[in-house]
Amino acid sequence: MSEKSTVLAIDDAPANLKLLGQILSPDYRFVFATKGADGLDIAVNQRPDIILTDVVMPEMDGHQVCKQLKSNPLTAKIPVIFITSLKDETDEAFGLEIGAIDYITKPFSPAIVKARVRNHLELKHYRDMLESQAATDGLTGIPNRRHFDESLEREWRSAIRRKSPISLILMDIDCFKPYNDFYGHLQGDECLRAVGRSLIGGARRPSETVARYGGEEFACVLPDTDLGGAVHVANELLERVRALELTHEKSTVGSHVTLSLGVACMAPEVGDTPGELIQRADAQLYEAKRAGRNQVKGE
Ligand code: GH3
Ligand code: MG
Ligand code: MG
Repeated sequence: MSEKSTVLAIDDAPANLKLLGQILSPDYRFVFATKGADGLDIAVNQRPDIILTDVVMPEMDGHQVCKQLKSNPLTAKIPVIFITSLKDETDEAFGLEIGAIDYITKPFSPAIVKARVRNHLELKHYRDMLESQAATDGLTGIPNRRHFDESLEREWRSAIRRKSPISLILMDIDCFKPYNDFYGHLQGDECLRAVGRSLIGGARRPSETVARYGGEEFACVLPDTDLGGAVHVANELLERVRALELTHEKSTVGSHVTLSLGVACMAPEVGDTPGELIQRADAQLYEAKRAGRNQVKGE
């Protein structure tokens, strides 16, 4: 880890914060709050790597802080350690049940605080790494099918809730089998990497997911986007890949690598499934192939 991890401490007693600061600032970026609510704000805005919170505080106590952190997707995965002078075992059990990862009891020893924080940060680092690997396509380095399925599922539910349209673009490289046969599988892989990278560069908003859907197929989920908007994006993606000017002598379409793209849009209602959107986009992709490839079709 090159950058320092951020540790957020929440405690209504300034003396405790001072002590924690002395223990942790040499190794970490140390930020603090004296109220639960302020701590939550910092957690959402700065996404610390770990949070130490006092349990007994006026207004919002540590348990409430922890519950709120765990119920917000933005902060749910940040490990929370309770600092408490309560020796009550049921209280510890309760804290662990609502999502805390560990306890440190007051008065705390600097060596224990350091060791616990270091251990939990290390675990979090590996968890994050595994999670990101599990969502990444090994060949192209872009989001994989699993990531795509999760994004589509999430955005689908959100579209139903907000009664907003959601669009999907399915893309397939034209004449890729002859490309592989003529240039070899390794150069085929190189082509997939280049196409994947250029498609990723075509996403305009963080909520837009571009992923490798399978073999030489890619997909793009566009939340809050109507058919016209999605067709526009699809044409831009088509243009980006054309602009790579990857020579393809065996293409029946032209002299360079091209894509066919199918676009579909739905305003889903309760009971609709994303499978329907995929089927519609796939049907449009088929139309694009049938109409001569190297083009966008949308319903
Ligand atoms: P169309 O224009 O109709 O899409 O024809 P196509 O040749 O692109 O389609 P087809 O489905 O016949 O061929 C897809 C090819 O993609 C065949 C397969 O070997 C290749 N492919 C799939 N995954 C990979 C991969 O990871 N690396 C490489 N190099 N090739 C792959
Ligand atoms: Mg294909
Ligand atoms: Mg193909």
